[in-house]
Amino acid sequence: MANIEKTHAFLLDQEDELAYFWQEFYVQPGTIYLDGNSLGLLSKCAEQSVYDLLNSWKELGIDGWTEGTNPWFTLSEQLGKQVAMLVGAREGEVVVTGSTTVNLHQLISTFYRPNAQKTKIVADELNFPSDIYALKSQLYLNGLDPQDHLIQVKSDNGVTLQEDAIIEAMTDEVALVLLPTVLYRSGQLLNIKKITQVAHERGIVIGWDACHSAGSVPHQFHEDGVDFAFWCNYKYLNGGPGSVASLFVHERHHGIIPGLAGWFSSEKSKQFDMSHDLTPAPDAGAFQIGTPHILSLAPLLGSFAILKEAGMERIRKKSLCLTRFLMDLVEQELSQYGFRIINPMNDEERGGHVALEHPEAIRICKALKADGIVPDYRAPNVVRLAPVALYTSFEDVWQAVQSLKKIMIDKKYQQFEGERGVVA
Ligand SMILES: *Cc1c(COP(=O)(O)O)cnc(C)c1O
Repeated sequence: MANIEKTHAFLLDQEDELAYFWQEFYVQPGTIYLDGNSLGLLSKCAEQSVYDLLNSWKELGIDGWTEGTNPWFTLSEQLGKQVAMLVGAREGEVVVTGSTTVNLHQLISTFYRPNAQKTKIVADELNFPSDIYALKSQLYLNGLDPQDHLIQVKSDNGVTLQEDAIIEAMTDEVALVLLPTVLYRSGQLLNIKKITQVAHERGIVIGWDACHSAGSVPHQFHEDGVDFAFWCNYKYLNGGPGSVASLFVHERHHGIIPGLAGWFSSEKSKQFDMSHDLTPAPDAGAFQIGTPHILSLAPLLGSFAILKEAGMERIRKKSLCLTRFLMDLVEQELSQYGFRIINPMNDEERGGHVALEHPEAIRICKALKADGIVPDYRAPNVVRLAPVALYTSFEDVWQAVQSLKKIMIDKKYQQFEGERGVVA
């Protein structure tokens, strides 16, 4: 590979159709933010939609539920339609509700139906802990021991999953599979279409945790026939800390009774009849439980609008170029400093971040942060760098790698403690 110079970064920035979105975001002066896969940044548009929502409360009081530009009573459905377009879903297949983990509980409560032959749940050993805790508690609620009924597919290298191993785990005893679309540490993107197809051939229900892909990788959840999916909206979707999450339920399952019902599961026109017999909404809306967190839905009005304008295809294209550029620079500039790239190299298997393994990862992250580069650390030894298409330039990537190189040359990381922060 030819030597990459700083001018390459300038050229790539000049050709970047999405460059102008940078002005839309609050990127703090003097910082390069590479942590949008943990918490996306605030946009001016999202900020405005929060102010607008506060105003509707101020001016309308109770009438805000049914009046104003974005009536609160149908806000979850309205936002569901917007985010549906970003994940290849049909209108009515997505609702913005709850939190990621609550939605997972809702979906497992609904779709996990163990019977005499099929009792097992397949997950993987690399998934985010919350997902595994939820699956185990769901098994306990069914009177089943996770020791026997939760199969966690093993990774043969500790960082990525092997498709064959996943497929092999889907035996006759399996009732449900839950997998991440993109693995949170290594950034591996699984083949959703293929794995979903195999699950269905074997009569297994399959759901996907899209926290690390929604807003970064385009999906075809409807086309791929995925049974259900869920994701948070505060990572690549920039909805703000604790913003309300999303869930997808394929059209063919609409009309079924939610495992965890509440009055917001109701068909809208019947909700205020106050009947004790639930008529569930005829779409994904049925999987809501109670009153939506309106203030935490508000930023999504702005942030989804930006994603829509940018378009998932363009976002993905730039994201892949950014991560490719970053990996090339890591190889060129940092090869003698002991970093190992653990994310998949080929585009079809790579999500939105680059993951670098290094024994000094924690101290390196602290040194980067002191230099105005915001990475994130995942114990015990991973530095994650997410160049987010909407607010990261190729020059930022160049700069970040130069800072990292200097930290390694000067051994600046040695000035920092090797203790992990509470949130890291
Ligand atoms: C971020 C993330 C979550 C977070 O769950 P919350 O309920 O929003 O706290 C869950 N699963 C995965 C894979 C994640 O990346």
